[in-house]
Amino acid sequence: MTFSSSIMTTYGRIDIAFTHGEGSFLISEDGKRYLDYATGIAVNAFGHCHPKLVAALQDQASKLWHTSNLYRIPEQEVVAEKLVANSCADRVFFCNSGAEATEGAVKVARRYAWSKGEKERTEIICATGAFHGRTLAMLAANDRPLFREGFGPSAQGFTHVDWGDIDSLKKQMGKHVAAILVEPVQGEGGARKAPSGYLKLIKDIALENGSLLISDEVQIGMGRSGTLFAYEQEGIEPDIIALAKGLGGGFPVGAVMAKASVGDAMIPGTHGSTFGGNPLAMRSANAVLDLLLEDGFLDILRDNIIYFDNKMNDLIKNNLCNKNILLKTKGSGMLRGFQLHDNINAGDFVNIARSKGLLLVGAAENTVRLLPPLNTSKNEINMAFKILNEVILEMKNKSD
Ligand SMILES: *Cc1c(COP(=O)(O)O)cnc(C)c1O
Repeated sequence: MTFSSSIMTTYGRIDIAFTHGEGSFLISEDGKRYLDYATGIAVNAFGHCHPKLVAALQDQASKLWHTSNLYRIPEQEVVAEKLVANSCADRVFFCNSGAEATEGAVKVARRYAWSKGEKERTEIICATGAFHGRTLAMLAANDRPLFREGFGPSAQGFTHVDWGDIDSLKKQMGKHVAAILVEPVQGEGGARKAPSGYLKLIKDIALENGSLLISDEVQIGMGRSGTLFAYEQEGIEPDIIALAKGLGGGFPVGAVMAKASVGDAMIPGTHGSTFGGNPLAMRSANAVLDLLLEDGFLDILRDNIIYFDNKMNDLIKNNLCNKNILLKTKGSGMLRGFQLHDNINAGDFVNIARSKGLLLVGAAENTVRLLPPLNTSKNEINMAFKILNEVILEMKNKSD
């Protein structure tokens, strides 16, 4: 099959098309079933066609899709109130993607400083390995020079410090810093969890310096860490939180959440989105939140995370032949990965896993990422690790 030349060539696509999904599985045109541990890059938080999500969307689809933010949107108020009730934030702005959420977060941070009369406080400190999206401003926030190439002058006001290195951060602080922007667990950067205590130190430094902390939870948020938000596990309260990916469970929804004083800097006219938070989007986000907040769900998830963690450690420890393939386990919660040895290609690993019916995603640092649906079962986890074992054996035979 050849790809349509009508599509802009921005992606190196895999030549598989799926016709439908069932829970943790995707079914391709030729009828093959795949265990989907890629979840559309951490988007399908409850797999495919979860009955509660389908029911919510079908109900709303027959009533009202879009009205714009010229009017009150009761469905938006419901979701915002649930997010506020279950987080340290007090205000929510809805958008449609992760990049809009991170960029919105930066706008809120700068506007807050500006509204307090600190007009010079505009700098955003980011970390090495960071990924915050693909808008022009977020290209400057990312630690990916290649992504910026050919796209003109870089947006001003973004500095990078070494991930995990407090001294490197301290050197960059000053009255010019509006916010520190970090992912508690870097996704694209290679499933890299912040060293324990790092976020707390960052928060203290931000506070001391009169700067804000933005937690980019676009990938790790909405339950993927094992708590509703990843920051909860670090005993801190960010001033601003960016959400997207899992928030709509497959429907494009993003959100910027902020503390009251910070969020209130955004007076009418300062920001907006035509689509953001429309009734259809809000019903999917509401259904996702209800599933996450259902009594006992996060306990089951945490239990499965421990199970998953043990499986990862076993895979790396118990099988001698893995030693030349898998270097180490990475990540946290249900944003996990294996870093592979330098002479093993992560792309090859992902391709072989796919040929055996398991969908994975690559990441930086020669890492293969595992992003299961949050409601995946122990049986499915067993199935995934059985396939991973087969992939390793096949790669070992090839390299011998
Ligand atoms: C994916 C991602 C983004 C960008 O999200 P888009 O929806 O692709 O714009 C931003 N931050 C993090 C941490 C992400 O993983």
